[in-house]
Amino acid sequence: MIKKKKIAITGAGGFIGHHLVTYLRKKGCFVRGIDLKLPEYKTSDADEFLLLDLRKKENALEATKGVDYVYALAADMGGMGYISSHNALILYNNAAINLNTLESARINKVKRLFYSSSACIYPEYKQIKAKLAPLKEEDAYPAQPQDAYGWEKLFTELIARYYKEDYGLETRVARFHNIFGPFGTWDGGREKAPAAICRKVAIAKLTGKNKIEIWGDGKQTRSFCYIDDCTKGIYKLMMSDFSEPLNIGQDRMVTIDQLVDIISEIAGVKLKKNHILGPQGVRGRNSDNSKLRKILKWEPEISLEKGLEKTYKWIERQVEGNYIKETK
Ligand code: NAD
Repeated sequence: MIKKKKIAITGAGGFIGHHLVTYLRKKGCFVRGIDLKLPEYKTSDADEFLLLDLRKKENALEATKGVDYVYALAADMGGMGYISSHNALILYNNAAINLNTLESARINKVKRLFYSSSACIYPEYKQIKAKLAPLKEEDAYPAQPQDAYGWEKLFTELIARYYKEDYGLETRVARFHNIFGPFGTWDGGREKAPAAICRKVAIAKLTGKNKIEIWGDGKQTRSFCYIDDCTKGIYKLMMSDFSEPLNIGQDRMVTIDQLVDIISEIAGVKLKKNHILGPQGVRGRNSDNSKLRKILKWEPEISLEKGLEKTYKWIERQVEGNYIKETK
């Protein structure tokens, strides 16, 4: 009988971690989920779920005990509003989580560890215009990430490299570019742009208002990658021999105004955009997928429109069930 691979996924109560649990269970793995909380919107498919705070080393040791592979996704994180206003807290929490997770994986003789880094590690000086060259993995240095969130991600990329070099722990590192989809945070202040815009459009539609507020002038650019492509990319990278950081994202850049237009069309409404002051992050950002294509012989394939359609429908149902009921 083939032995099931034993996997630990930290951050399994969060957006990407929750989807990854389902993906790896379908692949036939035994999956242990670890988080401070259970997933908010759907029951986890994990074989076991441990509620643990990974800022404590004894908890990280328990989390990574007896598993072959660790997928490290736990982080204190949110959209631009949250990230740009909680620098010290984010730096402290994420450094503690990641140091404990890597050290415990080493002590527990884990074979391989996946670390979820971010496009936020790329230097600000390469992202000052809305129209710019997509970011290659080599662009990370000289380093100048925008916020503490990005600095900590870059720091942990380095620790992952040294744990491989010095201790032989096989590490894989992905730099995610704006992952979105259903069953992710869509309100409360930690939501990211696609979810926030879906919510605003759904509220406008369901309340009959024809106006929504957008942070900034709407001309800032990003690329957005659907969650099913993300989980597939994580798995492909983990199974590969490649231990350097690799972009996982789409390379189709759109403005925030274009994102609003696509979502409005899906919702079937025409809306006026009221641009207001608000945190926007860097001016422009896109993923260069040349290395991704070369290494994994694959790249994200789900279109923005298709991904947003699924995401919008799910968020509209949440809005209907929450906001609208409350305000009646
Ligand atoms: P998320 O916030 O939905 O999930 C993170 C999870 O980590 C949460 O459920 C949270 O409770 C958990 N967590 C926080 N502190 C913890 C602690 N002390 N102990 C145990 N668990 C703790 O975020 P996500 O979007 O699923 O992101 C997953 C990973 O991918 C994170 O590391 C994030 O930085 C990275 N990432 C995400 C994106 C994106 O677009 N979503 C982009 C770049 C990088």
